[in-house]
Amino acid sequence: MADLEIFQFPCLSDNYGVLLHEPNSGATATIDAPDADAVAAALAEKSWNLTEILVTHHHWDHTQGIPQLVRQTGCKVIGPAGEGANLTGLDTTLDDGDTYDFAGHNAKIFASPGHTLGHICWWFEDDRLLFAGDTIFVMGCGRLLEGTPAQMWTSLEKLRRLPVETRIYCGHEYTQANAKFALSVEPGNKALQVRAAAVDKLRAQGRPTVPTTMALELETNPFLRPDSDEIQQNVGLVGAPLGEVFTEVRKRKDNF
Ligand code: ZN
Ligand code: FE
Repeated sequence: MADLEIFQFPCLSDNYGVLLHEPNSGATATIDAPDADAVAAALAEKSWNLTEILVTHHHWDHTQGIPQLVRQTGCKVIGPAGEGANLTGLDTTLDDGDTYDFAGHNAKIFASPGHTLGHICWWFEDDRLLFAGDTIFVMGCGRLLEGTPAQMWTSLEKLRRLPVETRIYCGHEYTQANAKFALSVEPGNKALQVRAAAVDKLRAQGRPTVPTTMALELETNPFLRPDSDEIQQNVGLVGAPLGEVFTEVRKRKDNF
């Protein structure tokens, strides 16, 4: 078993595709399948053969490529049990606490309801790698399309206990807009100011801001920082339970 190789590529309007590859076995997974042609092109570029699709949630921009890729490669599809009728055709379904072995690399499954009810995150503990789908973004978090704010806060609380060195891959490049909002609720956060400027520079050069790390998110992501005095003051909830602060911050982002 060798170290995992990771290849990220932009696709659709603002999605990221990610390939995971274990060179000894040749096993290759795509995290979600936003666009079959884009995934196939990435596989061709790396000369990797697809063996698995690891799904985070049912939305079309994460799953529409699945049927074509299965037809072309015969790969297996592994995904959340909790999406029910919204996500069919899975070879293996996984629930909170389940594990999945990818070429000797163990992934632990976190149920992370909020964006969708059945959303899961893939945590490769030994590799310190998190595939977060649309649960957490760089300086942001997913919209609450199905779940409640309380559910999402519980999901994020689990994630924010992961080791600070964890590399986080997420489904979208939403970073610049997220940074603007983050600054609106926490303008005095020095780390956030520095990061927002760095992000503008990266994007001006057409470069991705993903992956991120848990250390960076703990310092700059307002949805992981309801314990920040400045955020609590700015949303008028000093000393309130963290879930309440999160709920208010999420509401403000929806109206930003
Ligand atoms: Zn989504
Ligand atoms: Fe998405």
